[in-house]
Order: sequence, then structure tokens, then C-alpha cells
Amino acid sequence: MKKQVSVNIEFINKGLRSSIKCSLCANCPKGDNIGCCTYSPTFTPVDLGYYLENGKEDFLKRMIVNSQVTVLTGEITFNAFIEGVRYCFFHSDKGCDLSIEDRDSICRQFLCPEVKLWHHSEAKQWAEFWEVMAEWETRFNHQFIERLEHLGISLEKNCDAVFELLREEYPKWKESYAEVASRYPERHLLKLNRMVTYKKHI
Ligand code: SF4
Ligand code: SF4
Repeated sequence: MKKQVSVNIEFINKGLRSSIKCSLCANCPKGDNIGCCTYSPTFTPVDLGYYLENGKEDFLKRMIVNSQVTVLTGEITFNAFIEGVRYCFFHSDKGCDLSIEDRDSICRQFLCPEVKLWHHSEAKQWAEFWEVMAEWETRFNHQFIERLEHLGISLEKNCDAVFELLREEYPKWKESYAEVASRYPERHLLKLNRMVTYKKHI
């Protein structure tokens, strides 16, 4: 069924850990308890640096040896489970087990297409914000992975050496991006009215 709903969007500018919250997710129109969480999130060097800075080295080390995880030179992909229904490694009955800040950049800003956020004039500065952030993330990640390749180290073989380098580099990335992020507001709330198709009766 189609229904006109009011949707609250909140942009949260926290530099490289910025996110977009959407009120529609609490009453997901897919109505299947999984929503869009059929994805396999990939944690790139910028995510891993943030995890290390926040005391989550043990968590990362446990994940590197988990059979559900694919480890590349400088990235970890948490492969979705498929047991009749495909669902993300971090999905539970309560939704996502990770705080929004702990998610990868796709999950920190994913919105249903029906929200049509980027059509709203007030969202333009945020479209630019995400584009700029993605460029910086990509640059940091490429440079870091190239450096690992040059040094001949990788997460699979020498995760301690990779973590040590990330501990040196991540604070520098964070600081250089903070200047860019400071050109935008810290928070911005947007209220939209949208026609949404619900798969189940509500
Ligand atoms: S983004 Fe859409 S599909 Fe995903 S949880 Fe939110 S409302 Fe549901
Ligand atoms: S990390 Fe969280 S938000 Fe992202 S797909 Fe998995 S359960 Fe969903």
C-alpha cells in the first residue's frame, strides 16, 4: 500500500565519521525485519584507523580470522549470510549491532530511494559534503594500500604492522579532513513529506 509519510532526516557532521539518520528506517516499508541490510559491508583503512583509535584492536583481530570475513591487503569485508534469506553479518533482531558511527561509509548514509533526499534544495550542500568526503576517503585509502604494497605488508600476513602504520596515519587524515568538514554545519534537520510504498499492511 502507498502512504504519505513525514520523514525526518538528520545530517550529522563528524568529519570522517559523518552520517545521515532517517526516521523511515524505524518503520521500514519493506516490513521484513531486514530492510536494506542484505549488504556485505567493507571496512577500508579509514574505518580500520577509526576502530583502532577507539580501542577496538581485539575486535578487528578476531574478525580477521573469522571464516565469514574476506581480508584483503588493507580491507575487511564482512560477507552477508545466506540462510534462505540474505542478511548482513551485523544484522540482528534489534536491527544493526553497530552504532551509526561504527558503520562503513555506505551504511552511514544509505537512504531509501523513495526518500528522494537529493531532490530537496536544502540537501544540496550535503550532497556536496558526501562527494567531497568520499573523494578524501578514496585518496587516503588508495595511498595507504599502495604504501602497504610497497612495504610488502598486509592485514592477512602482518596485521600488527598494518595497525601500527594506521595508528600513525589515521590521526593525520582525521585532522586534515576536519578543516574541510568545519565549512559545514555540525547538524542539520530536514523534514520531508513523501509517498512511500509499504510491502506489508501497516
Ligand atoms: S534505508 Fe530503507 S530499506 Fe533500509 S532500513 Fe531504512 S527504510 Fe528500510
Ligand atoms: S552494517 Fe548495519 S546498517 Fe550496514 S548493512 Fe549491516 S546491519 Fe545494515
